[in-house]
Amino acid sequence: MIEYSMLIAGEPVSARGDRRLPVVNPFDGDRFGTVPDGTREDVDDAVRAARSAFDSTWSSTPGVRRAELLHRLAAIIAARADELGTWETRDNGKLLAETRAQARFAARSYAFFAGYADKLYGRVIPLDTPETFDYTLRQPLGVVALITAWNSPMQLLANKLAPALAAGNTVVIKPSEHASVTTVLMAEMVAEAGFPPGVVNIVTGGAECGRALTEHPGLDGISFTGSLPTGQAIAHAAARTMVPVTLELGGKSANIIFDDADLDVALRGAIVGIFSAGGQTCIAGSRLLVHRPLYDHVVTELGARADRIRLGDPLLASTHMGPVANEPQWDRVTTMVQAGVESGARLVAGGGTRDAAFPESGLFVRPTVFADVDNASPLARQEIFGPVLSIIPFESEEEAVTLANDSDFGLAAGLWTRDLSRAHRVAEQIVAGTVWVNTYRVSAAQAPFGGVRMSGQGRERGAEALDGFLRTKNVLLNLSGSIADPFDDLVEVDG
Ligand code: NAD
Repeated sequence: MIEYSMLIAGEPVSARGDRRLPVVNPFDGDRFGTVPDGTREDVDDAVRAARSAFDSTWSSTPGVRRAELLHRLAAIIAARADELGTWETRDNGKLLAETRAQARFAARSYAFFAGYADKLYGRVIPLDTPETFDYTLRQPLGVVALITAWNSPMQLLANKLAPALAAGNTVVIKPSEHASVTTVLMAEMVAEAGFPPGVVNIVTGGAECGRALTEHPGLDGISFTGSLPTGQAIAHAAARTMVPVTLELGGKSANIIFDDADLDVALRGAIVGIFSAGGQTCIAGSRLLVHRPLYDHVVTELGARADRIRLGDPLLASTHMGPVANEPQWDRVTTMVQAGVESGARLVAGGGTRDAAFPESGLFVRPTVFADVDNASPLARQEIFGPVLSIIPFESEEEAVTLANDSDFGLAAGLWTRDLSRAHRVAEQIVAGTVWVNTYRVSAAQAPFGGVRMSGQGRERGAEALDGFLRTKNVLLNLSGSIADPFDDLVEVDG
């Protein structure tokens, strides 16, 4: 049993009162550790430590030094990628191949943003008035809260921490109570890289701890990844303290197969889009829109392919899909699958069946495919965040765009077509933060990512991510040595 610690002011600490939460492997139910259940007082300590580090050292640390530390952190994470992947897989049940890749992705992100740390240039702005000099400074916000979800902790944290530190902020991180391990392991790695104590602080715990953090009056910014209801609660909290907020929330992304697509590639893309990571990704292509001429073939083929997906131990290379990451999520997914079955949508694969190949242990859900789904039904409108695909037919390009955009969310979309004009035309019309053409679920440290509508606000990754962690100050100098005085006639002239 491993007793993990929080990190406050460079020290490993337990929660006040020493309350702890279990760390559970969703594959076999093994409770292999505990994390502190952080309290309001712990959050207060962490925010104070971050403020003190910002004021005393970090705000005056040159960009070139921040870059050096971030490069070191990137190298440390890259060197430990296999080990970190294994911990993540034990913690949230994601396939080892994927968690290792996410560790490497995180390392790449720290290196990418290291490059910006000494290049946060302002602008010189020519004004209409002579003898004035106007310029902007791009300054860090100060103390920023970084709150993440359980599905991809290392990658989600890197999306926030790398630009936050590059921009010169100090941080208080709170990972999900369902997957905290790789985040608390960051304590060792930031110390080894040489970050001063208090620049990075980590508190663990659940919603109560998150609420204490986002309501804290000592914050200068919040960056959140998680569900829509929590995002809305955080937006309310931020309205009271008036701090900037980045919100990376859920999705119900449309993956659109046109009749001119390379069908085999598109079918793989549909499978990758929804069943990678067991559908537990915000960008899951959970609404598959299929051009009518291909519809019957695509439905039959995807049903058969879903049936062939091997469930099992996520640490084994032979496994295609691991368990759902935690019990509350398993309850949610299975309830929504059952509601789908009862709604009358045509069940093509899965749907809660447990056959001989179904693992004995763990929180598994069979890859599930529904066809003839009504775009107005809950199956098409609500984020399930599990291995559940809803297939919807369309007759024309115009109808495909209308259906894709008829959603409360706007995170991502996929297009499968060999027609270049159509690809550009449709990509422009889709209401989403990301559109993939003839691919799906590809992320890069360099490319901005984020949502519109109920999928959130702000951007992570790419140069745009820095905007969420910097504020612009304008400085205007009068070089003339005089100033126009509208009160001239009030001056009494002697004699
Ligand atoms: P969640 O909203 O339940 O929890 C996210 C984090 O917020 C956790 O750390 C949790 O402890 C904390 N939290 C909970 N209540 C809080 C409150 N009132 N105040 C402050 N913090 C609070 O989400 P989840 O179940 O962990 O994650 C799944 C969701 O995350 C899905 O909706 C998914 O689409 C979304 N997600 C989005 C992205 C993206 O980049 N857009 C990426 C991954 C996951």
